Amino acid sequence: MSRSIRLAVIPGDGIGPEVVAQGLKVLGAALPSDVRLTTTEYDLGARRWHATGETLPDAELASLAGHDAILLGAVGDPSVPSGVLERGLLLKLRFAFDHYVNLRPARLLPGTATPLAGDPRIDFVVVREGTEGPYTGNGGSLRTGTPAEVATEVSVNTAYGVERVVRDAYERAQARPRKKLTLVHKNNVLVHAGHLWKNVFDAVGREYPEVTTDYLHVDAATIFFVTQPERFDVIVTDNLFGDILTDLAAAVTGGIGLAASGNINPAGTYPSMFEPVHGSAPDIAGSGKADPTATVLSVALLLRHLGYEAQAARVEDAVAADVAARDGSVRSTDEVGDALVARVTATAPGGPVPA
Ligand code: ATP
Ligand code: MG
Repeated sequence: MSRSIRLAVIPGDGIGPEVVAQGLKVLGAALPSDVRLTTTEYDLGARRWHATGETLPDAELASLAGHDAILLGAVGDPSVPSGVLERGLLLKLRFAFDHYVNLRPARLLPGTATPLAGDPRIDFVVVREGTEGPYTGNGGSLRTGTPAEVATEVSVNTAYGVERVVRDAYERAQARPRKKLTLVHKNNVLVHAGHLWKNVFDAVGREYPEVTTDYLHVDAATIFFVTQPERFDVIVTDNLFGDILTDLAAAVTGGIGLAASGNINPAGTYPSMFEPVHGSAPDIAGSGKADPTATVLSVALLLRHLGYEAQAARVEDAVAADVAARDGSVRSTDEVGDALVARVTATAPGGPVPA
């Protein structure tokens, strides 16, 4: 664990800067006082694109690479054509920094409203492949715009890419109390990719005899997310299935205001990036209504990734306590951030630190 953290911050658009400000406050409160935190802000996103036409210049990509981690708010605005920032910024970062693990925990905190009936126990984590599948831009369009148009979107699956994410998922399952790993795919229809995933899953599994394994088709998985979410512990799946399943996971665990994610390069060759699952929500930007909790939980993932496990747990406990105490009264973005800072500070070793 390093005693200094060089953090790159991309506040982004809409509510991005508002929630990131709260995330940074909580990060500052959670870190031991002898850890030196330096932050560098990057002006990237819709605003920048409108001003300069740039999404992510190579010089900035190189500069980002010199950091220990990246905290991202959200980028995007309806005024930017669809795909410009996704491909030019978000996917560019993911591929350049080899973020092959997209980590999305789903935990139903006591006090959170879920659309599910009864009192389901939900505490699982989705390990979504981040650099392959249908997201590589492979494919094309013939006779574009004509009635005879043909479009292909090729899903790329390599033994190398599948093995490393499957192995990461086994490691995470092995480290959790239940030690259960579920592979989600659709290998009855997507036979080529599906068989590669299943074969690799079974082969790597022989190295983890303590981990119980399971396989589900993605359509069945969506049903079980709603009817039996307690059956899941760790899920590993491809890029597209993971995208869809994690939005569903967010919906059943109290909504997008609580969903955190990490785009992780496990080897640490490049900085990993942490961000709330939600977008820039331009409809509520500037109103003080944005819930910063998802960003704060993303900060907890960041802390854990950098080796600050105790601090990550304190941030997560602060969120759990705050959620349990929420009585439906409306608080501003800032008030939620302050409440979380107060809870993190109150549980610091040695008691509250004088301001
Ligand atoms: P993107 O394309 O960037 O993913 P999106 O269209 O999926 O964006 P979001 O920006 O995630 O949409 O927001 C969807 C809606 O959810 C917003 O309009 C907003 O009202 C609400 N919302 C999103 N994030 C938050 C938040 N942190 N706090 C409160 N409400 C939010
Ligand atoms: Mg979205």
